[in-house]
Amino acid sequence: MDTIGFWESLFGDVGHTERQYINQAAMELNALEADNHSLRSQIRKLYNLDKAQSAELAKLRTMVRVLMEYLVDSSTLDRTRLEERLESGFEELERKNAPEQVGPGGPYRGSAAEATEPEPTGTCTLCKNERLLRRTTMTPEGLVCDPCTAFGRVP
Ligand SMILES: [Zn+2]
Repeated sequence: MDTIGFWESLFGDVGHTERQYINQAAMELNALEADNHSLRSQIRKLYNLDKAQSAELAKLRTMVRVLMEYLVDSSTLDRTRLEERLESGFEELERKNAPEQVGPGGPYRGSAAEATEPEPTGTCTLCKNERLLRRTTMTPEGLVCDPCTAFGRVP
């Protein structure tokens, strides 16, 4: 939006110019309001999508847990081996999803902090195994590892 210049205010039709600017400002305000309304509508859609996805994830988690329990109960499958496979599956997934680490020494050297600091671990309160913290969840009962969560051991 333009401002009213000195010469305009001195000689021009200030009333007309001001009216023009006020109208322009009103139009811009309306456009902003429309944008705002559209943004709110988009945020609401995203929120609903997030809720739907959360519900779908909960269903999938339940399905995996039931299938795992059924597999172990109805066959000779060894629960421990299944857990190990699950664990390595999680590790593989994380390796695939991890962003490429580029340290200060360039892409072929790890960062100094990464080299000296081991990744933090914690003991699962349910299976008592030592797990990487990023593969655990804090529950009211304590730290629970991903395999225990997958097996539905979470109380
Ligand atoms: Zn565990």
